[in-house]
Amino acid sequence: MPKYDVILKGGTILDPANGCEEVADLAIVAGKIERVCPELDPARASEVVDVEGKWVMPGQIDTHAHVAGLARNWDPAIGYGMLARAGTTTVLDMGGSGPTLIDGIKRRGAGLNVAGVFALIPGATIPSDEPSAPAIKDIVLGALRQGCLGVKLLGGYHPFSPETTSNIIRACNEQQAYVGFHLGTTESGSHLGGLREVPKLVGDGRLHVCHVNSYCRGLVADAPAECDEALSILESMRGQLNSEAYHAVPNGTSGRCDKDGAVMADVPRNCLRLRGYSADIDGMRRAIMDGYASVVAQKGDEVVYVKRADALKIFDETRTNVGMSFPVNLPDSAFRLVTAKNADGDFIVDAVSTDGGSHPRNVAIQSTMALVQFGALSPLEMATKLSWNPSRMLGLLNKGHFSPGADADVTVLDPAKNAPAMSLVAGKPIMVDGRSVGSGGTLLVTREGERVAEASGLPFETVDLSKSKLYA
Ligand SMILES: [Zn+2]
Repeated sequence: MPKYDVILKGGTILDPANGCEEVADLAIVAGKIERVCPELDPARASEVVDVEGKWVMPGQIDTHAHVAGLARNWDPAIGYGMLARAGTTTVLDMGGSGPTLIDGIKRRGAGLNVAGVFALIPGATIPSDEPSAPAIKDIVLGALRQGCLGVKLLGGYHPFSPETTSNIIRACNEQQAYVGFHLGTTESGSHLGGLREVPKLVGDGRLHVCHVNSYCRGLVADAPAECDEALSILESMRGQLNSEAYHAVPNGTSGRCDKDGAVMADVPRNCLRLRGYSADIDGMRRAIMDGYASVVAQKGDEVVYVKRADALKIFDETRTNVGMSFPVNLPDSAFRLVTAKNADGDFIVDAVSTDGGSHPRNVAIQSTMALVQFGALSPLEMATKLSWNPSRMLGLLNKGHFSPGADADVTVLDPAKNAPAMSLVAGKPIMVDGRSVGSGGTLLVTREGERVAEASGLPFETVDLSKSKLYA
């Protein structure tokens, strides 16, 4: 009888939690890590995978992606396959709903572990612009009961007043629900000004600050100074915040204009202003024809950026209600934010995310690998940013490390190609050589979401957010 289901043989194990960076074999039994050992007998395994020359790290956990909502002219669930191909094994969807999450996993799931937060969109997902405190309490509980880990505030698109924002954060904290915030209130915006508001909004509470890089685009001050200030605000609230930043240059936003031709959301208005375009439909059309603004469209199993005349055609056909992208994220800001450490040597921004999924910018792994090649991060630091810290942020205590008994979620990286080569979830391959080979998915819910998860028929796991870095 074979003792092990799978041995990953001869790779360099990168397990920051256990301080392990060495060439060794990794054995998997029944979907769990059995052991890491310098030399295991291949005859004792049902399957042996040669990973010599590769990096073997705990499966990548993407703490900010989009697979369950917000998309206009494409199917967001296509993002599951896109993430799997990029090496992701666990994803936090930053703004959909329980039903869209479950539906998407069933239709287009690619074998990932999936958690989501409920997008607060007045007039669409919630009735009121400024819900009362009791209404907020019910909204948060409703989010948990529909299978989400908590809620997402979309300050760059649907900002609330500072008071309502504070009330939402507090309600989440009281129920120990996850709370992600794309910064900005009616008094600030989706820029450094939104981050300056955070200490007052949060008080002594807890919050996930979304995509820190997007507030360091040089809109309020010069970008390096914005990074310094952002880092000092995050550090001043140490222990209260989860944070991530993504590395892709293109952002993701909406092209939507109102009946008078004004661009509706703060994020695209800022993108247009950054390059001197007017924040209206004419400015948007010119930005598209100049190649500055791209339109996002589905092409087979992928989502792609479309430019110039082809983009304008889609923009007009959809009457501006289309996903857009601008190359506004500065690599210099991304570099500063990903590498910055505090006096104790801990990273100030916890994780590298993609803000991708069904947006074509799932580059977290390859860009972080490139930083290792560049000498800016060590291999263990890469694994910390891509897996260990994210696992703590979400309270996924069985993930992010290779201790015996941990979930056998693994991402194998090929440093020679600067790309992910294979990934496993619970010991089963979901990606091989860049092809997605999994289906379905495991839903991650809180206790309040167990009933809906059970009814969905999907495999699920219960997360105890009181054990997450956000609340522990
Ligand atoms: Zn996002």
